[in-house]
Amino acid sequence: MDYYSSYITKLIEELGRLPGIGSKSAQRLAFYIISQPEEQVKHFAETILSAKENVHYCQCCCTLTDRDICPICASPKRDHSTIMVVETTRDMAAYEKTGQYEGVYHVLQGAIDPMRGIGVNDIRLRELIERLKGDVQEVIIATNLGVEGDATALYLRNLIKPTGIKVTRIASGVPVGGDLECIDEVTLLRALNGRVEQ
Ligand code: ZN
Repeated sequence: MDYYSSYITKLIEELGRLPGIGSKSAQRLAFYIISQPEEQVKHFAETILSAKENVHYCQCCCTLTDRDICPICASPKRDHSTIMVVETTRDMAAYEKTGQYEGVYHVLQGAIDPMRGIGVNDIRLRELIERLKGDVQEVIIATNLGVEGDATALYLRNLIKPTGIKVTRIASGVPVGGDLECIDEVTLLRALNGRVEQ
């Protein structure tokens, strides 16, 4: 039996697809949305749509941006010969918050995960390899410490090492399995400064 209007059921279903939203939260959010003034809900829906329409990958580092080239890649103040490889734009933001890193980034938009069928062609690796043809002195691997991050780091090391470019990995001060964005700035800086040559 349908307790709610099918419109509400559909809304609950859609919200329930979001990561971290269980069926109870989905219900709560759906009823909250319905209770809001129409203008506000319209604004919310339009915000989602315009974010989706305007945000894409930076042509250089593959982070999410609304420009062709993101502000970090476009900045002449950054050291473009040092590339830190991270999994997500959120990880990149965590390092940016420290305000201490002067190099640039490459955002893989994921990590190699054989268990879930995510291979080297499913992340933004080709774009990184292309960048390595330029003037690059060091690649800092800052993938998350965990099975997928480790597999990705190993792959990158084996790929880059033969080119003669210095390869380092952030120190293991970062808790295993910890998402970079959840780690405080001091820990991140310590991990960055204590990076180890691979
Ligand atoms: Zn960029």
